[in-house]
Amino acid sequence: MTTTNHDRWSRVKGRLRAEVGDDIFSSWFTRMELEGIDSGTVRLSVPTRFLKSWIQSHYAERVLSCWQTEDDEVRRVDLSVRSAVIRSIAAQPKCAVQIETTRLGRDGIDGRIQLGASSPASAPISAAHEALGGSPLDQRLTFETFVVGRSNTLAHAAAKQVAVARRSDAVLFNPLYIHSGVGLGKTHLLQSIAWAGNAGSDRKVLYLTAEKFMYGFVSALRTQTALAFKEALRGIDVLVIDDLQFLQGKSTQAEFSHTLNSLIDAGRQVVIASDRPPTDLESFDDRVRSRLAGGLVVEMGSLGEELRLEILKSRVAAAHVHHPAFEVPASVLAYIARTVTHNGRDLEGALNRLLAHSKLTGQPVTLELAEREVRDLIRPQEPRRVKIEDIQRIVARHYNVSRGDLLSSRRTANVVRPRQVAMYLAKTLTLRSLPEIGRRFGGRDHTTVLHAVRKIEHLVGNDTSLAEEIEALKRQLQE
Ligand code: ADP
Ligand code: MG
Repeated sequence: MTTTNHDRWSRVKGRLRAEVGDDIFSSWFTRMELEGIDSGTVRLSVPTRFLKSWIQSHYAERVLSCWQTEDDEVRRVDLSVRSAVIRSIAAQPKCAVQIETTRLGRDGIDGRIQLGASSPASAPISAAHEALGGSPLDQRLTFETFVVGRSNTLAHAAAKQVAVARRSDAVLFNPLYIHSGVGLGKTHLLQSIAWAGNAGSDRKVLYLTAEKFMYGFVSALRTQTALAFKEALRGIDVLVIDDLQFLQGKSTQAEFSHTLNSLIDAGRQVVIASDRPPTDLESFDDRVRSRLAGGLVVEMGSLGEELRLEILKSRVAAAHVHHPAFEVPASVLAYIARTVTHNGRDLEGALNRLLAHSKLTGQPVTLELAEREVRDLIRPQEPRRVKIEDIQRIVARHYNVSRGDLLSSRRTANVVRPRQVAMYLAKTLTLRSLPEIGRRFGGRDHTTVLHAVRKIEHLVGNDTSLAEEIEALKRQLQE
């Protein structure tokens, strides 16, 4: 590197320091180095992705203008993350990240990032997001592909609201806390917010899994000075954290609590997803839990059959783009929607198998094929755990006797039959053994229980009204 370049760089740094002030300069620019200048392009480097993205989104134009004041031939500044690799191949500027002074959003800068392999449409968003320490976003998880149904209407509306809000809008609910069982669309909604926010509005959305928050974000913040920390927080308009239940460890949780409070107090939006409501996050302390519950808490229910069918249809339509020959008859879709009930992941799995099969064999998708392929995804409805006490209570009430009568040694007909029915239900609805059931029915012998079970089984086969009565009792117990 020539002395002149070096001198120029010193003068540019002097200018920068004068413009942004000592504090900001030492937070962000002391570790910035000049890698070289060729044909109007200045190549600078910093040691971390975090610094790179920060400078890129906040100071790119300023850095460029300081250079241009010094040397009016400078057209562009390339900022890269310094690493052994980039150092050794510094002659190949393609690896560098380019800052171009395209206007966009409130910072006036679009840190346009060009990485050879990525698809042009999504690269700027996802790469910028990743550079901030964000978790990777799946291109398919957007609002466009999210199907709205009864179980997720509210969660969807709230997420949409967050995604389209602008900087100047008042925050309506904070945090937005979405919880549901696995595979019901939490990640899909959260990533939709990240895509929509980063693409469309003037706000910066950072999507982090709890894991990324623990190992990436927190450590990035820790390595910065206190000032830089505050500034970093100020730069995020919407913080989205997925799978909060995985956030472990006292100090990480303290860091999370600090971040949560700073952002909410500063009027920034926080969005959380978890597999349980805030009150059930046992490892978090009370204040965090109440803060988490203090915004809007929305539960997403299981996907109804109609919703499952719609999801399947939209998946098939999406698959069509790449696999035009993939046809799935309506009867097959209806069959999958009816039988694969657990969650969105299994629906996807079922379709993938049909797709794989049709690609590999070239044969049409039939109902028969579907039945074979998705067999193991069909889980029998797990019966609700039924307690023997409940059986005794409900049977006693039904036959208008007391629970004590069922446990007693009385042998009058009006208690013998109800007792037998109760024992039969205990055997069929619980996993208790015959001796255990005998004990719970006033210390009877297991052969007595076996006799009762056989007797009722026999009667049910011949007596439809008893069969119906027992079905009704079962339904009551399993509701
Ligand atoms: P969670 O994060 O709640 O475990 P995901 O968001 O990962 O669930 O969803 C699992 C799968 O089901 C994903 O492929 C997702 O796209 C799909 N899915 C769930 N709900 C919907 C929905 N309402 N519309 C479209 N796809 C959905
Ligand atoms: Mg998830």
